[in-house]
Amino acid sequence: MDIRARSHEELADWMALLGEPRYRARQLLHWIYRLGVVDPSAMTDLPRDLRARLAGLIAPPDEVVERVAAADGSVKLLLEYGDGVAVECVLLRHGYGYTACVSSQAGCAMGCTFCRSGRAGLVRDLTAAEMMGQVLAMRRQTGARPVNRIVVMGGGEPLANLAHCLHFLRLSTSSDGLGISPRRLTVSTCGLVPGIFSLAAEGPPVTLSVSLHAATDELRDRLMPINRRYPLAQLLAACRHYSGATGRRVTAEYVLARGVNDRREDARKLSRLIRRAIGHVNLIPLNPIPGGDFERPRDEAVAAFARHLLDEGTAVTIRRPLGIDIGGACGQLVATAGLAGEGAGKPAAEQGEQARAAGPGDG
Ligand code: SF4
Repeated sequence: MDIRARSHEELADWMALLGEPRYRARQLLHWIYRLGVVDPSAMTDLPRDLRARLAGLIAPPDEVVERVAAADGSVKLLLEYGDGVAVECVLLRHGYGYTACVSSQAGCAMGCTFCRSGRAGLVRDLTAAEMMGQVLAMRRQTGARPVNRIVVMGGGEPLANLAHCLHFLRLSTSSDGLGISPRRLTVSTCGLVPGIFSLAAEGPPVTLSVSLHAATDELRDRLMPINRRYPLAQLLAACRHYSGATGRRVTAEYVLARGVNDRREDARKLSRLIRRAIGHVNLIPLNPIPGGDFERPRDEAVAAFARHLLDEGTAVTIRRPLGIDIGGACGQLVATAGLAGEGAGKPAAEQGEQARAAGPGDG
């Protein structure tokens, strides 16, 4: 039994099947989600004989095969699953706590050019239990401090793995699960328009973050193949729908690459494009990836781009690159199949250093 993605009702039924009182389910949930423990031998308020029985029935936690700590306190973990597939996830440390950046797929089929993740295609979708396992593994790294934000911005496109992603989001926000406010959960998409409508209809009202990276279809077609299927007009209409349906602001991620999308003219077009659809832009100076075609702009150019956006009335944050020295920043995550080679993994999260943001915060 993998107990990580089970509802209270399912665990209570399971306990009854084992001849135990149904309230044991609540004890299990407390261990899993409040304390991050899935090893029954450590669940000291369960009777000794039950602990021994559960030890043979509960699936062990995913194996952490590598742990790398960054100078800024961020930690990247490589988790290996039973089938040999491994994914990375990153715990980002801030003054106010920890953010868990979760991968939703091993690899990615979307092929965005800035991203190390899209290089080798999709390996497979991750289940809700595997996504939750990443949070629990990261939680075990934090000592007494809680993980108080989750961003589904690691490897993969979450809306291409919608059913598992929705299950994970419900578990994360449920009082029987992690109990995290939807305002502290962010799902990032490269622009899968039908998935945005489904998330609005079926998911908790999380923050939606859209990876834009370009203000014209011509450029976005080149940078992000998904744009040929769902061009900007459709994507922005979906963003407006999401805001209207959930009451949540949509934010945009914009990776700045030198000489590609970092001119004043790009800032002006971007600002006009997103008006009335997207409330805030997170600027991400390009993170280097091995063999990549693009260069990171100078800091002054990044600051100038942010100023141009502000001049146009667009709220903007320049992201401070957390975990960059361990390959845990945006676009640097990878996944492996059988630990044999590089696969995919989407921009890992970096968290914002508030430059001068106009408008409300995102959660
Ligand atoms: S940016 Fe995200 S959607 Fe695009 S290739 Fe990377 S992981 Fe996939």
